[in-house]
Amino acid sequence: MSLDLSNRRQLLQQAAACATTLWLPRSAWSQTPRLKTYPFALGVASGSPTHDAVVLWTRLHTAEPFSGEAVTVHWEVAHDEQFQRIVQKGQAQAVRELAHSVHVEVQGLEPDRWYFYRFMLGEAVSATGRTRTFPLPEARTDRLRLGYASCQRWEHGFFSAYRHMREENLDVLMFLGDYIYEYPGALNAVRKATGGWVLTLDDYRQRYALYKTDADLQAMHATCPWLVTWDDHEVQNDYAGVHEGHSGNLPGGTVADFLARRAAAYQAHYEHMPLRSSVLTQGLAGLARGAEMRIYGAVRYGQLANLILLDDRQYRDAQACTPQGRPGSGSLDPATCPTWNDASRTLLGKRQEQWLDETLAQWGQGRHQWTVLGQQTAFGQRDFRPGPQQFFWNDSWDGYPAARQRLTQSLQRHRVANPVVLGGDVHENWVGHVLADYAQPGSARVGVEFCGTSITSRSGGASAEKVAQWLADNPHFVLADTQGKGYGVVEFTPAQLTTTLRVVDDVTHSDTQVSTLARFAVQAGRPVLERL
Ligand code: FE
Ligand code: CA
Repeated sequence: MSLDLSNRRQLLQQAAACATTLWLPRSAWSQTPRLKTYPFALGVASGSPTHDAVVLWTRLHTAEPFSGEAVTVHWEVAHDEQFQRIVQKGQAQAVRELAHSVHVEVQGLEPDRWYFYRFMLGEAVSATGRTRTFPLPEARTDRLRLGYASCQRWEHGFFSAYRHMREENLDVLMFLGDYIYEYPGALNAVRKATGGWVLTLDDYRQRYALYKTDADLQAMHATCPWLVTWDDHEVQNDYAGVHEGHSGNLPGGTVADFLARRAAAYQAHYEHMPLRSSVLTQGLAGLARGAEMRIYGAVRYGQLANLILLDDRQYRDAQACTPQGRPGSGSLDPATCPTWNDASRTLLGKRQEQWLDETLAQWGQGRHQWTVLGQQTAFGQRDFRPGPQQFFWNDSWDGYPAARQRLTQSLQRHRVANPVVLGGDVHENWVGHVLADYAQPGSARVGVEFCGTSITSRSGGASAEKVAQWLADNPHFVLADTQGKGYGVVEFTPAQLTTTLRVVDDVTHSDTQVSTLARFAVQAGRPVLERL
């Protein structure tokens, strides 16, 4: 490959489009910069695993910006932690236009195997990360330990949950949104304020870099591969698709060009996550023009599980009937909101909805045991008003009931094996049965739902009496807990799943301990939650 480094556009196109590591002739390599400070201070990560591939990530970051347009970083993958038995090694380019982030798409690995990886730049060596491939799609697999987590607002506490999560022997972590928050600090901040409103590409980069300095978060990234999706705060509170005119609580009103802000936020997300370059469907230039960043997808874990990751932010219709006609979220009374049940409204967007239906159709007839739907928010109906009047939060699936109905119908039509919906967003643990039709309380149970609490982000913290009332009014939910912060672990075997809700004692102390809030089992073929 010949490459003229003065042609930045060409380099960028290649960096964005290349399915594997970007290789350059030796003559095109940058000089290794003289480093005064350690360049791997943001840690390492891996993600988007399949049976033979995984993405390795790091970002060069020092106090002084790098001088070069492109910096050559070396990487190694080994069977052993001492890097005696190297499996693959190579070079990758960290380019300025991608904030000197590095995404290595390692291919040709053995299935169902753990690996170690690291990066080198000059004398500097990164932390060692540990990652794994999934079993072959047709392999009989006995066990999968999958974690789920979401919502880590820096100022609300320490990310200590990740320190405990490292002991859980996870095969993969699903991160379900709100990796960063775009706000300027917080009231009663546990950790010091984080700067101003996040609006520009540089702002987003700085915010990710701040979060990535957290040692527990870094260590968890280095412990196992992550499957990552986003929610609203990676861009702006409560945003919906491309809809403009919403302030996201910004004082003084809306940003001038929401799509430009969104594109900057998406680019920074790519730069800081172990994602394939193919998520940039039209490259960086396309992203700047408003093209999608396609992060939804599906991957099999042997015959044991199909893991589906959804994006319910990027393509959604605007929230319905927010009070005073404002854009953004709020509670609605369906009796006074004709838009609410409009069949044309969508949370996933038509194309993702169709993709999901096709994926479920293709896998519905397979021999696999579990179907995991990782997505951002609460799935089941939560009516917050006692008595016949209803009151729904319009930012969750409750704001898009026709779209939810299409999904539950899709699950039934394709006889999807053992659906398990994982969620986040609400900063509370909610565990329930997925109903075929939430408008018919006696309708069939078609799956189970574990909507997870936050790593740190605060919730309303409703009283025990209120929670008891909610559960009485929404009996398809079997647990709601408004206090605990932490994560969930689902252990899948062919015969059953076991979910453990883990909560820390106090997010305001970095040395907090962890305990089990509740455990549930579900037998394959029978969508009934048993409390253990
Ligand atoms: Fe959140
Ligand atoms: Ca009611």
